[in-house]
Amino acid sequence: MANWSNTDKGMLIVISGPSGVGKGTLCKILLNRVENLFLSISATTRPPRPGEIDGRDYIFLSRELFEEKIKKGEFLEWAKVYNNYYGTPKDIVFQQLRDGKDVVLEIDTQGAAQVKNNYPEGIFIFISPPSIKELKKRIIKRGSDTESSIELRMKSAIDEIKAASEYDYIVLNDDLNQAALNLQSIVLAERCKVSRNTKIVLKLREEFGNDASVN
Ligand code: ADP
Ligand code: 5GP
Repeated sequence: MANWSNTDKGMLIVISGPSGVGKGTLCKILLNRVENLFLSISATTRPPRPGEIDGRDYIFLSRELFEEKIKKGEFLEWAKVYNNYYGTPKDIVFQQLRDGKDVVLEIDTQGAAQVKNNYPEGIFIFISPPSIKELKKRIIKRGSDTESSIELRMKSAIDEIKAASEYDYIVLNDDLNQAALNLQSIVLAERCKVSRNTKIVLKLREEFGNDASVN
């Protein structure tokens, strides 16, 4: 890939939307297809699900430790989602951005709103379900929620959908391949912005200057 991350600072890509819409599935495909993208590992107080590994899927913390970190201002954003805390560790993300890496956050809509306040230059992408019926079907299919937890997620989804207009992009996750292609296209198009490629522009100016003769 010719021109990724030519400016010194990386892009912060925020991917959000209701639980069960396919954020995790789409992020996995995105990270496999696009080079030099880094997924931020969130901290959470929820217990690990079977197969989840501390430090790979989440940083699993006790409630006390999480609250201590909130007090110390260690999160770029944090939210209480379905009775558990979730948060994005600030220092690691900012370090990666300073190193010119593009960082993906896969977070809920409350967290995305906080990032927008604290870091408006981020790229905000909302993943939308094709219908409320299909969203419920996907949450059930995932198989990790009790009946009451499914109801809670569906109730929250109504408010989360209302936040869609605050985002820069919307990706309808109906056909998975099309949604993955749209998401990938957004990231690649953002990388091609002139404002993110000032080094190329300056080099071109230097090389071409006012003299267009080529020998
Ligand atoms: P989220 O991370 O938003 O909570 P997941 O990625 O866990 O959602 O997806 C929830 C369920 O929906 C999973 O079983 C996943 O395989 C399924 N899924 C994701 N995208 C699609 C799609 N486009 N069509 C059908 N099922 C999907
Ligand atoms: P799960 O428990 O299913 O892994 O995640 C539940 C919800 O929490 C999902 O909507 C997920 O996107 C969100 N989430 C995961 N990490 C973070 C985070 O760091 N911050 C916020 N605000 N939400 C998160």
